[in-house]
Amino acid sequence: MAFEGKVYDLIGVGFGPSNLSLAVAVADEMENAGADWNLEMLFLEQKPGFVWHEGMLIKNTNMQISFMKDLITLRNPKSRFTFLNYIKEQNRLDEFINLKEFYPTRIEFNDYMAWVAQHFENCVRYGQTVTSIHPVTGQDGEVEYLEVSVTDADGQASVFRTRHLVVASGGTPTFPATVDVPQADNVFHSHNFLYRLNQQFSNSEEPYRFLIVGGGQSSAEIFTHLVGSYPNADVTVAMRAFNYKPADGSELVNQIFFPEMTDFFYELSPENREKMLRAHYNTNYAVVDSSLIRSIYKMLYDQRVVGVDRFRILSFLELKELSTQAGEVFAMFENVMTRETVQLQSDAVIMATGYDRPKRHPLLKSLEPFLVTVEDGGYEIEREYRLVTKAGFKPSIFVQGVNEGTHGLSDTLLSVLPYRASEILRSLHQQMRTVINSDEVTIGW
Ligand SMILES: Cc1cc2nc3c(=O)[nH]c(=O)nc-3n(C[C@H](O)[C@H](O)[C@H](O)COP(=O)(O)OP(=O)(O)OC[C@H]3O[C@@H](n4cnc5c(N)ncnc54)[C@H](O)[C@@H]3O)c2cc1C
Repeated sequence: MAFEGKVYDLIGVGFGPSNLSLAVAVADEMENAGADWNLEMLFLEQKPGFVWHEGMLIKNTNMQISFMKDLITLRNPKSRFTFLNYIKEQNRLDEFINLKEFYPTRIEFNDYMAWVAQHFENCVRYGQTVTSIHPVTGQDGEVEYLEVSVTDADGQASVFRTRHLVVASGGTPTFPATVDVPQADNVFHSHNFLYRLNQQFSNSEEPYRFLIVGGGQSSAEIFTHLVGSYPNADVTVAMRAFNYKPADGSELVNQIFFPEMTDFFYELSPENREKMLRAHYNTNYAVVDSSLIRSIYKMLYDQRVVGVDRFRILSFLELKELSTQAGEVFAMFENVMTRETVQLQSDAVIMATGYDRPKRHPLLKSLEPFLVTVEDGGYEIEREYRLVTKAGFKPSIFVQGVNEGTHGLSDTLLSVLPYRASEILRSLHQQMRTVINSDEVTIGW
């Protein structure tokens, strides 16, 4: 197993928007705030290059957040890593302004983030899947470093050492807990949607039968895409709810995604945090952008005008069983109102059933003896996203994107990335000063 003999100050697991914004924050602090920080950092990303939810980069799908909530503008609109600077560098500024669009396509926003990521090629290793993280004890008997094990696409293993760690590995695609999902190429989660479509359903003229399970934003986007791109396909959406419900993006409620709300939320009691999450669940979960709902309604109406029944939404259906036979998928549902059983046959089932973020990160398993846990089974975490550790453990571990329960609804989104990155850096700097007690590290903000 290869070990390059170097100890990094900070290793990041994953190089999605969260850790990318952290890299931007480091560069920005050094360039613009006069910080002088010799931070040796490395990000380990399993994908072969930067790409954001590539299986769902569907044409004509838009961001659900303003382009100004990019990787840095909130904190420093003058940074060279802003979305507007990217647009300027692409020679599209006039054209972009003329679009009068606050919500660019996801394809364009992905291109923006990939452009930013190119600036950090020297501190990212792509194609490296982190498989485990272990403590390394120093001569004084205290945990000094963390050993991060990775494998590359060829199965080659290596090990990296770091003084501090930031985990931002995103959510895990999830399926209904009560359903055995068959291992079949034609039953797949929405995160793989475009791959599977290109691989197995590449002839857009074929009369495929598609079934989508779920009633959130991904389901609505997939429904719209399949209806529009496969003119002869039969497309069904089955959902437990009555119908697609609009996301609450109204101005007053939307203030819940303001950066200062993180302080407010963090200070609440566990009961009040839970109440806040429940009360505002419809800002993000099992809801759909209202303009998309309108276009779906129009699509369904137009179909009625010409007397066709090629695509439809089936309400109140809870998935009970899935099986495959001779290339077909058999789905059994129960109608939650009538308790009747409904059987649907299709050529492919797309599970638009969301993502899971377990309270305890599987990669932190072997560090658990050193982590303080709380009543709900999760780890105790500081306001600045640092896990509380027990005595005798020197490394700091930060986690991003899994703290909705303590830091509020913005945590899994892009809403407060620049602030979060800056808060993590402040805390890291503090730890490096107090734990390592080194004069080498100075940062000026
Ligand atoms: C289709 C879709 C659209 C969305 N649109 C919006 C939107 O418009 N606005 C918004 O605010 N939010 C949106 N979100 C929410 C989304 O969670 C955030 O936009 C964002 O992706 C969070 O960034 P992240 O870096 O925390 O996680 P991710 O983007 O999931 O990135 C995590 C990275 O870690 C890597 N990784 C995971 N495990 C390992 C490992 N063991 N080793 C190495 N690398 C690993 C992954 O490959 C990935 O690149 C959307 C989500 C989806 C699924």
